[in-house]
Amino acid sequence: MGASPAEGPTVTHVFHRQLNTTYPRAVAAQGVTITDADGRTYIDASGGAAVSCLGHGHPDVLAAMHRQIDRMAYAHTSFFTTDVAEELADELVARAPAGMGRAYFVSGGSEAVEAALKMARQYFVEIGQPQRRHFIARRQSYHGNTLGALAVGGNEWRRRQFAPLLIDVTHVSPCYEYRDRRADETPEQYGARLVRELSEAIDRLGGENVIAFVAETVVGATAGALVPVPGYLKGVRELCDRHGILLILDEVMCGMGRTGTLYACEQEGVVPDLVTIAKGLGGGYQPIGAVLAQQRLVEAFERGSGLFQHGHTYIGHPVACAAALAVQRVIQRDGLLEAVRRQGAGLRERLQAAFGAHPHVGDIRGRGLFQALELVRERTSKAPFDPQWKLHARIKREAMAQGLMVYPMGGTIDGQQGDHVLLAPPFIVGDADLDAIVERLSRAVDNALASLP
Ligand code: PLP
Repeated sequence: MGASPAEGPTVTHVFHRQLNTTYPRAVAAQGVTITDADGRTYIDASGGAAVSCLGHGHPDVLAAMHRQIDRMAYAHTSFFTTDVAEELADELVARAPAGMGRAYFVSGGSEAVEAALKMARQYFVEIGQPQRRHFIARRQSYHGNTLGALAVGGNEWRRRQFAPLLIDVTHVSPCYEYRDRRADETPEQYGARLVRELSEAIDRLGGENVIAFVAETVVGATAGALVPVPGYLKGVRELCDRHGILLILDEVMCGMGRTGTLYACEQEGVVPDLVTIAKGLGGGYQPIGAVLAQQRLVEAFERGSGLFQHGHTYIGHPVACAAALAVQRVIQRDGLLEAVRRQGAGLRERLQAAFGAHPHVGDIRGRGLFQALELVRERTSKAPFDPQWKLHARIKREAMAQGLMVYPMGGTIDGQQGDHVLLAPPFIVGDADLDAIVERLSRAVDNALASLP
């Protein structure tokens, strides 16, 4: 017999993320807060990991899930399609970047990236270009933890111990204006330099041998809301087109409205060949992700083998599709993309007021309700703190003590660590919540800094 949930277990049999950590036990969640077994509430200022776009306990989403469970919880996709999967695909394709033809449903972000990589490879097999076998991606990126997604990801710390098992991927520089733009360059010149670097990488591999370039439109989990400089992704798109290379944009974290438009790439004027979405798609109510594919690619499969050689037991899960459909309809009905832009601007102003002159906050960046701080030992040199001190983890701990959830990360920049804190609150976040988030974060940052050796 286990201990009662309110007391918490003395021994755990869950293989937790960190084995030497005691996690508070979440027992309830409503709106922008989560409550633990001790009755403490936390403002969910990170939406978990940029997941909970509608906040918690939204009645319309719960009702849609209940209706679907009562009708039918599950039907395997090798036998049936379902109304909810069809409706969700209709809805997504209707509002997707131009030319998208179909949505392939999976259970999360890594699965979406994995499916996109395989879809891209198989597309070239279908059209008679099987020699294409290379992916190019960027350092300081995260695309998921399955082996294919980890291979394209460029986060050294996550890759290191699995590297011998990963497919060979060429990595180029991230678009990291704060750290990498030279003083004598305009943002546009910096973007053009990055495109030239990519072009050289393509030439080394041979353009006819490359399957796809993979990038997060706005980088999330490894560097905190890195926004591309103007023209960079357009240059990438043109380069890919010149060589017949596919552009896969990973919008698992930044997509589905998080940056103020449904897809972050809309703000870049760029249309990908494949786009992956997940977190905000189902808003955490159910595990769901998707790959949207250009109609041209779909037709190549139709004309060719007629089969995408892939699949999982839970693809197109009806309850997950029902939850995602409800989430997306609430976002539209309640004008929540506009709310993201408005409250995102409000969050940015508050961060600027609280941290704009802070001696250890080097950069405040982001778009919409996807904002981040980068912490530095010293603002002029932008020198990071000693990575051994794990300042980002200290901030997370101090924030939890203040009743605040923020998403911390210590990314690797070509071997150099930086500490970042990402904020991605639900789209329903109010002004008073934003005040509380920034006040608590200020205290957490200062307490964490005070705790350094
Ligand atoms: N791609 C990006 C850009 C992500 O941020 C993440 C998760 O943080 C993933 C893929 C992997 O998603 P999941 O954790 O749902 O597998």
